[in-house]
Amino acid sequence: MFTSRLIGSCRAVLAALIVPVALPASEHGASSAARTSSAAVVSEADQTAMSPAEALIRLQAGNARFLSGKRLERDWPAQVHETAHGQHPFASIASCMDSRTAVEQVFDLGLGDVFSIRLAGNVIDDDVLGSLEYAHKVAGAKLIIVLGHSHCGAMKGAADDVVLGNLTSLVARVKPAVVGVPVDGSPRTSKNMKFVDDVGRHVILAVRLIRERSPVLRQLHDRGAIDIIGGFYDIETGKVEFYRPLPGASPVALAKPAAPATAATVAQAAPAQPAFSH
Ligand SMILES: [Zn+2]
Repeated sequence: MFTSRLIGSCRAVLAALIVPVALPASEHGASSAARTSSAAVVSEADQTAMSPAEALIRLQAGNARFLSGKRLERDWPAQVHETAHGQHPFASIASCMDSRTAVEQVFDLGLGDVFSIRLAGNVIDDDVLGSLEYAHKVAGAKLIIVLGHSHCGAMKGAADDVVLGNLTSLVARVKPAVVGVPVDGSPRTSKNMKFVDDVGRHVILAVRLIRERSPVLRQLHDRGAIDIIGGFYDIETGKVEFYRPLPGASPVALAKPAAPATAATVAQAAPAQPAFSH
């Protein structure tokens, strides 16, 4: 009972560290959500007109369709033809390589909808940052999602300090998230799946890291051209929850809940100005 109280306490502490992004009521199920997400490919005009908040709604709606089994019908050969000479993705998603978390399926996406970057543990390194800078500064995408997931093998490896070839340096990148999970007396190893999943929510640290290490993306974020948020995919339910980081918190010592950015803060987003064609 003592252990369960501690776990419950830890859960409450962690819940205070992140701010879930609510799904707009109008976007549940297949109502306006289905109409928001068209099976047509994203045109340049679509991308230019879309705000970061609208890009998030589009992903939320896609996940709702995925959950309901009511995926959009797509004419794949037509999408190949329509995207042959250009792409105008509305978002980029940095997610884990886990075979159960393919974002195109989880968010019911078509060709050309998003840039997808997949590395074990959804780590953010210099090459990922460069890819994101292309996606948003050059190609004009509006929303960055760092998507973690439950029962992640990379989080387990980081919790257990796995040493194995090049994997050693990869799991080391996840270590700050391990350190950042509040101590509550429960086991801090891969045997404690609750702990593993708490580590998985290190996406909120990755969001902060993107801002800290990429002046290009930070500038776009500061002027509202893009938004950067975290997501967490539950492999047992198929549902994605979104989180905002805590402004000003240490990457390994989150302390205070943050006020979520409102739609108003991103509604005035201006399209990114491509530096060269793509
Ligand atoms: Zn994973």
